[in-house]
Amino acid sequence: MTSPVIEPKPAIDLKEVRLRLGTGASSVQVLDGATLEVEAAEAVGIVGPSGSGKSTLLMVIAGLEQVDSGAVGIAGEKLNGLSEDRIAAFRGRNVGIVFQSFHLIPNMTALENVAVPLELAGRRDAFEAARRELAAVGLAARASHYPGQLSGGEQQRVAIARALAPEPPILIADEPTGNLDQATGRQIADLLFATVRSRGMTLVLVTHDPALAARCDRQVHMRSGRIEPDAETGKGAALLRA
Ligand code: ADP
Ligand code: MG
Repeated sequence: MTSPVIEPKPAIDLKEVRLRLGTGASSVQVLDGATLEVEAAEAVGIVGPSGSGKSTLLMVIAGLEQVDSGAVGIAGEKLNGLSEDRIAAFRGRNVGIVFQSFHLIPNMTALENVAVPLELAGRRDAFEAARRELAAVGLAARASHYPGQLSGGEQQRVAIARALAPEPPILIADEPTGNLDQATGRQIADLLFATVRSRGMTLVLVTHDPALAARCDRQVHMRSGRIEPDAETGKGAALLRA
């Protein structure tokens, strides 16, 4: 008797996702049939013109936007139709997010920015875990600094520590080096790739920077709310299975 072959579920499985944002005459079909599969532990770069829907696609992966139609499967769970509470809990466990503009809370220290979300999620060891994550991004000595006292690169390190602290299997990053000078951006990219690779995380990275996109295992191009088919294989954004 042969054992059944179990296909591992992709970490991210978006099928024909459609989403219209805004109201009335000013509404926009932001996602227009976007399909994307990302394998566990794969790093995928999303590139494409401004306004093509890249950031919105990341919001869908994070469960921060609900789609109008199409299937959204993340970390083996189907997000379609889940309540806001269920989605928030899902996101806290499964998806870490890093933004271009850091999104740190200005009146909290670096340590508090990392620890407070953990505490809200019920982690008793929130402050110890936050200290560990700050040390992992090289900021142990800056734990009691406020964001305004930190450089851009340091602020992004805090944001990365905050995203990683809940140990999510998936990290999404929207132009994570977009507000940094070239040398600092490179250090942040080094940190991101080293971390996701050593922890076996899945990474979806949106960037305008071709050099950064080239560091991913695979790149996909987004245009007018869709992931364009791969020019070489014609296979679209589905995984290339042997
Ligand atoms: P990208 O990240 O590729 O630049 P976005 O996902 O930010 O693209 O946006 C895609 C398009 O959707 C843009 O034209 C943008 O103006 C529009 N859009 C985004 N959010 C909204 C919204 N809340 N209401 C109306 N239009 C929106
Ligand atoms: Mg964007």
